[in-house]
Amino acid sequence: MNDIKEIFGSCVFSDEVMLERLPEEIYISLKTAINEHKSIDRSIADTVADAMKNWAMEKGATHFTHWFQPMTDITAEKHDSFVSTDKSGKMILEFSGKELIKGEPDASSFPSGGLRATFEARGYTAWDPSSYAFVKDDTLCIPTAFCSYGGEALDQKTPLLRSMDAINKQALRIVRLFGMNDVKHINTMVGPEQEYFLVDKDMFYKRPDLVFCGRTLIGAKPPKGQEMEDHYFGVIKPRVAAFMRDLDKKLWSLGVMAKTEHNEAAPAQHELAPIFTNTNVAADNNQLTMEIMKKTAEKHGLVCLLHEKPFAGVNGSGKHNNWSLYTDTGVNLLKPGKNASSNNLFLITLAAIIKAVDEHQDLLRISVASAGNDLRLGAAEAPPAIISMYLGDELDSLLESIIKGEHHNDINKTNMSVGTDIIPSIRRDNTDRNRTSPFAFTGNKFEFRMLGSAASISDTNTVINTIVADAFCSFSDILEKSKDFEKDVKELIKNTISKHKRIIFNGDGYSESWKKEAKARGLLNISNTAEALPLLSSMKNIALFGKYGVFNETELRCREEIRLENYCKTVHIEALTLLQMVKRDIIPAISDYTDTLCECIYNKRKASGDIDSFVEETLAKSLSVKNTELLSLASKLEEAVVDVKKIKDITDCALFYHDTVLSIMKKIRDISDKSELEVKRGYWPYPTYDDLLFKI
Ligand code: ADP
Ligand code: MG
Repeated sequence: MNDIKEIFGSCVFSDEVMLERLPEEIYISLKTAINEHKSIDRSIADTVADAMKNWAMEKGATHFTHWFQPMTDITAEKHDSFVSTDKSGKMILEFSGKELIKGEPDASSFPSGGLRATFEARGYTAWDPSSYAFVKDDTLCIPTAFCSYGGEALDQKTPLLRSMDAINKQALRIVRLFGMNDVKHINTMVGPEQEYFLVDKDMFYKRPDLVFCGRTLIGAKPPKGQEMEDHYFGVIKPRVAAFMRDLDKKLWSLGVMAKTEHNEAAPAQHELAPIFTNTNVAADNNQLTMEIMKKTAEKHGLVCLLHEKPFAGVNGSGKHNNWSLYTDTGVNLLKPGKNASSNNLFLITLAAIIKAVDEHQDLLRISVASAGNDLRLGAAEAPPAIISMYLGDELDSLLESIIKGEHHNDINKTNMSVGTDIIPSIRRDNTDRNRTSPFAFTGNKFEFRMLGSAASISDTNTVINTIVADAFCSFSDILEKSKDFEKDVKELIKNTISKHKRIIFNGDGYSESWKKEAKARGLLNISNTAEALPLLSSMKNIALFGKYGVFNETELRCREEIRLENYCKTVHIEALTLLQMVKRDIIPAISDYTDTLCECIYNKRKASGDIDSFVEETLAKSLSVKNTELLSLASKLEEAVVDVKKIKDITDCALFYHDTVLSIMKKIRDISDKSELEVKRGYWPYPTYDDLLFKI
């Protein structure tokens, strides 16, 4: 594919395009604002808008939209055409600076957690010049922040940008202490690895659970799952390969640096990893990636499932959030370098992150809480709901020596041979990997693996940035007063690590014994969303987010409410879908097959006294017992979804959905899955797991 260079970024109003199309002084003014995170000078907006419009029209665009991220984990857009009239009423094509900078979508149709009443519909979108505009589906898309009439954030981008400002400010204080006076800005960088499933489109539409809930609510396990480990990195099937090629091209054209595509552990599961970039852009790019995945799959007769647990008993999908801190001069604060033990800037950064993660386990856990992710965390091949950090043997022994005040010999990359001369010797990294850790150090970055596949990466990174900013702030408060910097830095690193070392765990995070040990260490273990979310607006968290201007108290409380509501709605829809499936399809199917069996028993008895109908009788009895149970559980579920309406408090509601509704659903599933294995092929009303996972 020699045309990658031509394709890449071809639909993006990128730096090069700006340089080419904007007058020099306007380009410089815009660029400076972007680099230094300052507001742009409004007087340049008209010129920028006009250049954008002309460029977009050459790409075939007829419309523009403010592209934003309401609190739904997906993006929203409202299209306006470039068509306008001049003073004499003649049609002209126009896109003004005002239209570029500000939009006014109706805010009442998006979740606001009570921030906006329906009758107070005003909401604003505001241009985010730090993320490039692009053309998608004949529309010029302008990345924007979304806020209410009173200026409260109604989206996921605004708090993320605020948290990036907070960590920039606090990290700058730290690097200044190390004499790095040339640094003007510090950015958090993220590379989110995205996991997903592909299923056949025709089969997808035959399953109401996939259509309405994005996951299967029932389905017996196939005889073969992922135990042979033959899918992970396996040869990619032609139909999937064609999808991936197409996806890459489309993403490249939108400036998304899709880099790695491979099969994941579960059958029909895959992963895409982009090259990391600044967090705000990474968040926008990840939203685009999810959208384009879905659209591209459709074109290939497939459906892309982004749900965290589309199939029970099979791996779920996550989004590994690789995170690091870079100065604008190109220094990664998380790079240990050759002499980690004397790299105090690295060690203080590491200490800050250890402190942050330990002190704010609750926030990290909350940031990944959702109905879908509840089913994934702690299940097959997914991190548990307990937050801990993995540093690897090398760093671990370094920290151990720091605590004990002993000298440490840094080990650097060594060469290793694979035992035959024809294969050149390779460099071994100084840490192995631990796939079971939720928050793992991987050489020069941290990888947070708890995030669910369907979520926006914004909330999680807002939390990581803010808690690390807070740790940096407390360090700077101490060190800025220091008279003996060298000594005090070492002291601070040592004290911090000693105090927070309980959060470090290098063992098997999937094991049962870890749960016990974590409890003994006093670590939080919050197993579900209904229990996690109410902790968001604790006094500690209100104070933390307030201090750094990331969320005010109202915004935080609203978010908690929206997410609790979302949890309740999700489980409610699942319950109604399951009821429909059980009553309309499953009970009748079992009944039909039992009927056939009974007819057979009747015929055998009629034909002659001694033809044995033992098999049919046993099966018919077993199935009719199950069907009776299904019917009774279905009425229990029906009652539960009515009862829940009587509960006023949203927190209690969420708990009821978790404790009662989901547990009845689980019982139904259990019986349905057992029945599925007893009902003759052809009678079962839905494509099975075998069909969905193995027949692409
Ligand atoms: P691994 O195999 O360790 O998961 P990869 O090199 O495949 O690592 O990277 C996984 C993701 O991490 C990619 O999206 C990559 O761009 C991103 N990444 C690599 N280095 C960094 C870094 N310093 N900061 C943030 N993300 C990074
Ligand atoms: Mg990885």
